[in-house]
Amino acid sequence: MSKTIYLDHSATTRIHPEVKEAMMPCWDDFYGNPSSLHHKGREARQGIESARATIAGYFNCDPKEIIFTSGGTESDNLAIFGVAKALKTKGNHIITSAIEHHAVLNTCSQLKKEGSEVTFLPVDKFGLVSLEELKKSIRPETILISIMYANNETGVIQPVEEIGRLAREHKIVFHTDAVQGIGKIKIDLNKLPVDLMTGSAHKIYGPKGIGLLYIRKGTRLLPSQVGGHHEFKRRAGTENVAGIIGFAKAVELAHQQMDTNNKKTADLRDRLQDGIVKNIPEVQVNGHPTARLPNLLNISFKYVEGEGIILNLDTNGICVSSGSACTSESLEPSHVLGAMGLPAEDAHGSIRFSLGLANTAEEIDFTVDCLIKTIDKLRQMSPLYKKK
Ligand SMILES: *Cc1c(COP(=O)(O)O)cnc(C)c1O
Repeated sequence: MSKTIYLDHSATTRIHPEVKEAMMPCWDDFYGNPSSLHHKGREARQGIESARATIAGYFNCDPKEIIFTSGGTESDNLAIFGVAKALKTKGNHIITSAIEHHAVLNTCSQLKKEGSEVTFLPVDKFGLVSLEELKKSIRPETILISIMYANNETGVIQPVEEIGRLAREHKIVFHTDAVQGIGKIKIDLNKLPVDLMTGSAHKIYGPKGIGLLYIRKGTRLLPSQVGGHHEFKRRAGTENVAGIIGFAKAVELAHQQMDTNNKKTADLRDRLQDGIVKNIPEVQVNGHPTARLPNLLNISFKYVEGEGIILNLDTNGICVSSGSACTSESLEPSHVLGAMGLPAEDAHGSIRFSLGLANTAEEIDFTVDCLIKTIDKLRQMSPLYKKK
């Protein structure tokens, strides 16, 4: 196989060398249990608390408001189940959107099975939640609104600040899954009206298996996992010391280089989009023209199947995905593109290109060349195309 061209950074990223380096002492030196009283324990504790303070600094919140989990999925579960349990006597209505990651969608569906009322808000053709619809769906018994910051399939950025203000007016807890937004969007939690926020390290060049949940002081939330008194009694279990230290380094690097990184990936994204749109007929860019992440591009290639495109590109060393990593294993068309009104056959031929720091203009040009050939080849074999 030729050299790897990795264009699937929304699925996961390769760990940054500086992150790896920051984690190295954890194996041989900081091996103590952070809960132990002796000096080996205190060293590990100090590593965790300094990582927590670093992260809190970049989000402008109190370190005590950040707890570490095993990843974005756990943080979403903890936020939603935790609020539903804590506010059970106050109400049982939850508002979310139809385009959430499955970590949110399936958590809400589980609560629905257990008797909660859940509203799945629709989105417009650009993938945006409507504030009007949100306003209309608020009831006296609404306890939680969970709407993602930026979508993992289209990169569309939701009006989080406005949603938060609305939630505050109605005294409703607001959770946002910011896994795709963190490191690409500046987030000031002192100003942003968000009560709970999910993050994950492996989407920003950090290690896998470590996430965070920001819990604004005063937010009521019951733990899902019980045991020792770890993480301010909100998440029991011995801390992932190396993961936490790596996560803090990844957050630091992402923030120090945010503007240059965003400009770099946006330039490559535009180059890719132009190359595709100018050279391949009957394609459609999915998402919002401006309210979108700099590194993500979702395109429908009419008359072909996404799986065919992925496998053909893969033989040329190019890694892309069709929608989210979770949907790519099933043949269901993307729930996100479906909610945006895309017909199933167009959603089936959609590809998500997500760019990262190591990508180059040459890689993009090579990808466009391969796509031109691949799409032409697949269309020649497509009964849908021939019928035209
Ligand atoms: C990847 C992702 C998650 C899940 O995070 P993990 O750390 O992989 O569990 C949740 N939400 C969004 C938007 C994601 O992109």
